[in-house]
This record gives sequence, C-alpha cells and structure tokens, in this order.
Amino acid sequence: MAAGPAVVDGWEGTPLYGVEAQDGGPQCSASNDFCFLCHFEQSPNQIGTPADLYGSLVEMINEMGQQNRELNHIVEKVYSNYEQFIRPHISYEHPETCIQITSPAWVKASIRRHLLYSSQFRSLFHITLEQMFHSIFTKQNATMVDASNGQLDGTRLKEFNDTMKTYLAFQKHVTSKSLLSTTDRTSTS
Ligand SMILES: [Zn+2]
Repeated sequence: MAAGPAVVDGWEGTPLYGVEAQDGGPQCSASNDFCFLCHFEQSPNQIGTPADLYGSLVEMINEMGQQNRELNHIVEKVYSNYEQFIRPHISYEHPETCIQITSPAWVKASIRRHLLYSSQFRSLFHITLEQMFHSIFTKQNATMVDASNGQLDGTRLKEFNDTMKTYLAFQKHVTSKSLLSTTDRTSTS
C-alpha cells in the first residue's frame, strides 16, 4: 500500500514518516473514497444521546488527540468504532452516481486522510510533525559519532542543533496554541 519513491528534479525521495498522501492532493475532496465525517453532520437534536454517532466519534478522536496517541493507533480505533457502531446504521447517496449505498465502507486511507488534512482535527497534524521530529532525531543520532576516532562529528552535531532549535520553536508555538497540551478534564471513568 505504501507509495513508491517520489522523484523530483532527479532526486528520488521517500517519506521520513509515512503519512501516505495520495496523488492529486492529500485532502478528502481529492479522493473518491467515502468519508463518514465529510458526508454526515452532527444532528443538533441528537447531541449527547446514544444516537449521536457523529458526535461520539468526534469526541473519541479529540480525546485520543489530547492524549497524543500515534496517528496509526487513532486510525485503527476510528475504523473499528465505525465498523461496529456506525456502519450498520447508515446509508448515503453517492454524489456522482446518485445511487443509494447502504452501510458504506470507510477505508483506513480515507479515515487517515480526513484526520490529517480536513483541518477538523488540527492537533493530529501536529502529532504527525512531532513524530517527524522524533524520526529526524533518531536518524541524526545514528551517525553522530565518527567511527574512526570516537569523537562527535562537528557537521552532524551542527545539523542536530539546528533540528533541535526548530523543534523547540515548534513546541513553543504548539504549547502557546494549546494544541498538544493535555487538557485536564478530570475524568473519573
Ligand atoms: Zn473527510
């Protein structure tokens, strides 16, 4: 399922952290896949009731985002929640064919696409950036010491420090926006 290397001006690159963006733009509107969160809205008179499928799902995603859970984990949870509690109860009219589709499949690629690129869950994109920084740190760390003499390599150390500086600025920005901070909603479950 992973996309092949992207070639730009002769440079063949692969993603540092797999977000599986698709051709034609990464957002839901560029895809023909069904997306539950794009096709449905929260029903105002069902807010807070068990029938509020949309609201429960959004709340679950926001809670996992506040816990800084990894994106793949959130996608898996959303997928199984949709399959179990939502899919059996919904149908929708396909926008192009106008055919009524009962219990539409919401594939994981479509879930991931919405979570990352719809801007409905902005904190999830920040979690992905956080993962990218972790990946950069890991890769830079792996070659930091000159194997011939056991000393730190100056160039690599400088590159690491640059990454660290950017990372700290990113963290400061995110914290100021409270996007990654765990809100202390005292849960007694
Ligand atoms: Zn969507």
